[in-house]
Amino acid sequence: MKLERVLPYVKTLLKSSVSPGDIVIDGTAGNGHDTLFLAELVGSNGHVYAFDVQQTAVEATLLRVSEWQESVSVIHSGHELIANYVSKEISAAVFNLGYLPGADHSIITQPQTTIKAIESCLDLLTVGGLIILVVYHGHEGGATERDVLLNYVSSLPQSFVHVLKYEFVNQQNHPPFVLVIEKMKYKR
Ligand code: SAH
Repeated sequence: MKLERVLPYVKTLLKSSVSPGDIVIDGTAGNGHDTLFLAELVGSNGHVYAFDVQQTAVEATLLRVSEWQESVSVIHSGHELIANYVSKEISAAVFNLGYLPGADHSIITQPQTTIKAIESCLDLLTVGGLIILVVYHGHEGGATERDVLLNYVSSLPQSFVHVLKYEFVNQQNHPPFVLVIEKMKYKR
């Protein structure tokens, strides 16, 4: 298979943009898979800030990264408050939108708070850094978030960021797609 699937592609992007010692953000900790992957990339001299609004997600993530306690902060708070917790330059941020599988399907990421989080990450991001969003849109509310987000990222100035949409267009059942934002210069 030559075309990378969506989730492996996200890992490839993270590997290409994150180095040992970096500071990075997981905007939706969920079950902690990306938090762990990021912890391994930044190593013991780096730091991962992981956010989630659900206690179950915070607990699942803490358990998964138990070997990385020093270099991971799991924060029980919405990602719209990232700016209250992170002030240093980051090399990457990742978000998995939608609901937490196996938990309450009515707790979903919301367009306005997602955009606020992206704005905070854009401020913190180093030039050349990436914000990666896995957009799940098959659930109730998912299509609205997708459309608001697409509208928002399409309006970001090209001189400031480049935005990529990575999507398989002939798959059934609303497969997730990826939005990647690469910061090109310091100010808009
Ligand atoms: N849909 C993906 C997983 C998404 S998990 C999949 O199927 O693999 C999304 C996570 O975002 C959930 O754990 C949820 O609790 C969290 N979340 C929702 N709103 C949030 C917010 N404002 N800030 C941080 N996390 C949030």
